[in-house]
Amino acid sequence: MEKTYNIRITGLVQGVGFRPFIYRIATHHQLRGTVENRNDGVKILVQGKNRNVEDFLIKLKTESPPASFIQSLEVAKKDFKPFKDFRILKSKNLSQDITLVSPDIAVCSDCLKDMQTQPHRIDYPFINCTNCGPRFTIIRDLPYDRPQTTMNEFRMCQRCDNEYHDVGDRRFHAQPIACNYCGPEYSLYLEGKEITGLSKILAVMEVMLNNGKVIAIKGLGGFFLACDALNSEAVNRLRKIKIREGKPFAVMFRDIEAVRKYAFVDEYEVGKITSWQRPIVLLKTRSELVPGVSMGFPTTGAMLPYMPFHYLLFEKIGLEALVLTSGNLADEPIVIENEKALDIFLPGCDAVLTYNRAVHNRVDDSVTMLVNGKERPLRRSRGYVPAPVYLDMDVEGIVAVGAELVNCFCVGKGKQAILSQHIGDLKNLETYEFFLESFNRFKKLFRVEPKLIVCDMHPEYLSTKFALQTGLPVFTVQHHHAHIASCMAEHGLDTQVIGVSFDGIGLGDDGNIWGGEFLVCDLSDYQRVVHFDYHPMPGGDQATLNPWRMAVSYLYSIFGHDLHALNLPFMKDLDPGMLKIIVQMIEKNVNCPQTSSAGRLFDAVSALTGICTVSTFHAEAPMRLEAAINSQSDESYDFVYNKTISVTPMIRQIVNDLQRSLPASYIAIKFHNTIVNIIYEVVTGLKSMFNINKVVLSGGTFQNRYILEKIEKKLERSGFQLYLHEKVPCNDGGIALGQIAIAAKKLKTGVVP
Ligand code: ZN
Ligand code: ZN
Ligand code: FE
Repeated sequence: MEKTYNIRITGLVQGVGFRPFIYRIATHHQLRGTVENRNDGVKILVQGKNRNVEDFLIKLKTESPPASFIQSLEVAKKDFKPFKDFRILKSKNLSQDITLVSPDIAVCSDCLKDMQTQPHRIDYPFINCTNCGPRFTIIRDLPYDRPQTTMNEFRMCQRCDNEYHDVGDRRFHAQPIACNYCGPEYSLYLEGKEITGLSKILAVMEVMLNNGKVIAIKGLGGFFLACDALNSEAVNRLRKIKIREGKPFAVMFRDIEAVRKYAFVDEYEVGKITSWQRPIVLLKTRSELVPGVSMGFPTTGAMLPYMPFHYLLFEKIGLEALVLTSGNLADEPIVIENEKALDIFLPGCDAVLTYNRAVHNRVDDSVTMLVNGKERPLRRSRGYVPAPVYLDMDVEGIVAVGAELVNCFCVGKGKQAILSQHIGDLKNLETYEFFLESFNRFKKLFRVEPKLIVCDMHPEYLSTKFALQTGLPVFTVQHHHAHIASCMAEHGLDTQVIGVSFDGIGLGDDGNIWGGEFLVCDLSDYQRVVHFDYHPMPGGDQATLNPWRMAVSYLYSIFGHDLHALNLPFMKDLDPGMLKIIVQMIEKNVNCPQTSSAGRLFDAVSALTGICTVSTFHAEAPMRLEAAINSQSDESYDFVYNKTISVTPMIRQIVNDLQRSLPASYIAIKFHNTIVNIIYEVVTGLKSMFNINKVVLSGGTFQNRYILEKIEKKLERSGFQLYLHEKVPCNDGGIALGQIAIAAKKLKTGVVP
């Protein structure tokens, strides 16, 4: 008698076209049985020839839908009544434990074909199927059914309804299913008029974009501002509208050929940029679009079309690339409401393109890069959220609120850590409201009953204050320990490691500002074994905004107050009065917190070399210092270390190089090599002292491609086991994951909050 195979699958297998896929491959192999969504995943029963079942299992693992992710797959054989055919069963008992929500998925190639051939979907700009389309952005609640999404206002027409109920159709149970007769529609607003009808809209946009106009365009997770990326005037105008001085713009290219024309793309980068997640990928520029896009950086933030509309638009306008930047003002979150978009964008932009389906969950575009062939995420939003990070431990009911400047929080569900989308700087009121709203939504959506909340130990972070207000038991976690723990959690590590945590700012447990730290730690505890020497940060946050203050701080520690005698070029542009005040602040120790921050050291060198003395956006000075590197060299500067690292020899040598009028690019490369050497030497010393071979790198400094490339090769060549972030950002956007891991470990070992 034939055996029945009982297959249980967990992972991201719901709302991603998994059941229709199972149906297709089961019937293809003449198998009989059932597939159903269960609380904890998908359950499949199949009967048939052994060989066919084996082929079925191979296909199941190798050809599953792009956005799906199989976390575990168990097969058991049992006796069972015979089936007549293969069926998709109605979901039952979908209740508290259903946790997984698919991220939004870029339009698939089948739908792009249907857009040209299916009579009711010719040029339909919201075409989607079970393999693609909006997910997280439109979900209000679970289970993932149409009435629980912002598609609930649209009644399916008969044709869509038939497809929706046809198990053989690619749109079987595609919740956002729609067509030209029943789905959402675009409207273009300009000069007090509303234009409807896609062909009219595209015709108007074609003329506008080809004539340098700026249009606010509603995307999947909010509004974006768009203009021709090869039109300097348009780009500069867009820059004024956004009040964005120095930060590069992301660009959407027509297709991969257009990307190749303007940027270098290796095979890994092609894989990522064309993936269903369609993030912005930072690429090395081959040919600059216009200066206003890249703002002096040798990189291009490139992405490909991800909504059906983007394809239709590029086909019509004939342009190769559009600037597509988040539609927000200054530090506010991106706008999602149509009314608000019209209010705030119409005065500045030439037109606003909206559609009549609401964005429920706001998400920015995600940003990522590939270093030595591996993904190193920088901002996790569209296409990534809310896919969980799978852990080796139970984190149920633990919630972590992250840091403050680059906030992202995290909720624990079973063994899954579900990180929120990029929230932003909580000091901005609208962003803080976005944080509160998203936090409550995540609790509800994922059925999380918080029993414990985790925050940074910085008492002034708004996230910390929020955590303390909740009345829940609280764990506070040191910032740099959380960075390292975040990377450890990603890799399922829970042994002693050498943690190198370099970033801008994080409060240390001696009350000083840390950021250049070598820890020996596990998830429970850490020991700060080596760090950079402390230096005053004149004016606290003001020093972050004005990197020249850090340059002065470092110089003062060596040369005292008579800095003019050094005759350094960067000081010529400084207001002499301000310079005097800063020197006095350092001398009298007024409002000068002490810092060991690596980020501030990058700031100091960036200013010293005249590359960036005043910062117009977060981390500009270190980014410009890296961008200044334009050749190869292994030269470096000197440093000394014991318990602490002194870069005094390096600063002296840099001053020397400047006095000899050596180019800033040369100093930049030597400085970067020095940082690589510092990491290498300290880590090697710690290895022999503690007999630990595992090294974890985390913190915002490791967004630096040059340093990552070099240190990764150097440490691995020397036999270290190196761990870097692959799933969450190394910047503060990943810190909530570390907070949750540390809290779970503490609970497990009996520590009470
Ligand atoms: Zn599709
Ligand atoms: Zn329809
Ligand atoms: Fe940090």
